[in-house]
Formats: sequence, structure tokens, C-alpha cells
Amino acid sequence: MATIIRDFIPLGRANRTNKPIDGPRFITVHDTANKGKGANAISHAAYLKSDRAAALPVSWHFTVDDKRVVQHLPLTEHGWHAGDGGKGQGNLSSIGIEICENADGDRAKAEQNAIVLIGDLLLQFKLPITSVVQHNRWSGKNCPHTFRSKPGSWETFIEYIKRYMEQNKEEDTPMTPAERKQLLDLQNRLAELEATAKMKIPPWAQSAMEAAIKAGVIDSPADEASRDFYRLLTIMHRKGLL
Ligand SMILES: [Zn+2]
Repeated sequence: MATIIRDFIPLGRANRTNKPIDGPRFITVHDTANKGKGANAISHAAYLKSDRAAALPVSWHFTVDDKRVVQHLPLTEHGWHAGDGGKGQGNLSSIGIEICENADGDRAKAEQNAIVLIGDLLLQFKLPITSVVQHNRWSGKNCPHTFRSKPGSWETFIEYIKRYMEQNKEEDTPMTPAERKQLLDLQNRLAELEATAKMKIPPWAQSAMEAAIKAGVIDSPADEASRDFYRLLTIMHRKGLL
């Protein structure tokens, strides 16, 4: 997994809605459509904090390049990236992800990072693969143009996300007998620890306890004490110290 850098648009900016996302129920994929050198995730994070982005307003959740993922909005908030307006499902219910295409970056690697990010998000929010959609779906814009201009590439991208999810989903299968035994052993050890931390006087410490009371070392039998306490009394008693 590529590193995720959190670099949120500050609260109070016009492109930071601070309004709850509906769901999220979709993941909307975009291309940055910026082939310029250095137009990576870091530079898009700076752009989103600029007055230009605030004035539009425009905002999305993640930008992915070949080296990193930068997060610009919390996943509890909706952004302005789908072009379907203030009541649009794209804006209100989808996580927006921009994939970089800067000339000095490795686009294939950026797509790989996006596959992992999207797969993780689908697993986290328990969303089906069908919730991954193109920006085009919401507004008709030719975005993500890189996939849209290459027949089959979107389907391949989706296939890779599916495969990633298959490999990384948490197994819902029941425990194996060996695992169940391990769990029981752990539970027993925990119960044992709890019991020895505080226990009624055990028979083997009875005479030591009586001797200790007689010797005035302790006032009255402890209702509950640790095994180490009883053990210490017993050793002292056996050594003739009580
Ligand atoms: Zn787009």
C-alpha cells in the first residue's frame, strides 16, 4: 500500500463542505487531466487549498500518484467533484478519487495505487464492486478520459480491484478446530491469571496464615489476596520465621 498522507483542506474554506456524506455509497474515479511535470498528488493538495479551488468550489477525497496517496477530505464529508450539483448523488454520496497523469510520473504505478486504495475503501465500507463508477456517470463529462479513450482498460481496472478484494477480504469462515483450541487456551490462561491475582486462602497456606496471625504479622485472614502473598507467608512459615 502506498503511503497515505492526510492533508485536509482547512475547515472554513469554501470548498470544504463540512457536511456529512450520504453513505458513502459510491466511489467516483477521475483523471486529473493534467499531464504537466510535477502535477502529482502533492501539487493537487496545494491546489485544493488555493483560492482558485475554493472559488469554484471544487474538492475531492484522494489524489493518487505513483508514489503516494494524499487525502484532502475526511471520509465523513462530501466534496464537490462530480459536476452533478448541490443535490447530485455523485457529489453527496461518493468518495472522489483523482488519479494523476503527470508526465514525470508512472501512470501504471498510480493506477496500481488506486486499485489498492479503492479495494481497501470497498472492504472498509462493505460496498460492492459496482459502486465504483466513472465521473462520467454523474455529469456526462469525459472523465476519467485515460480509461475512456482506451477500450477495455476500465474493465481491466475494475477486474484488478475485484481481485485485490478477493485476496484481502477478511475471512468470514468459521474457526478451525486448532484455532478454537487456541482461543480456549487463551481464555483459560486469562481466567487463571485473574484467579491467581486474587484468591481465597488456599488449603496449603492455611497453617502459615494462622501462624502469621498468631505472630501478629497480620491482623486477620485476608479475604482475597494474591497467590504470591500466600506463597510468601508459606515460605516464611516453613523457614520458621512465623
Ligand atoms: Zn472528473
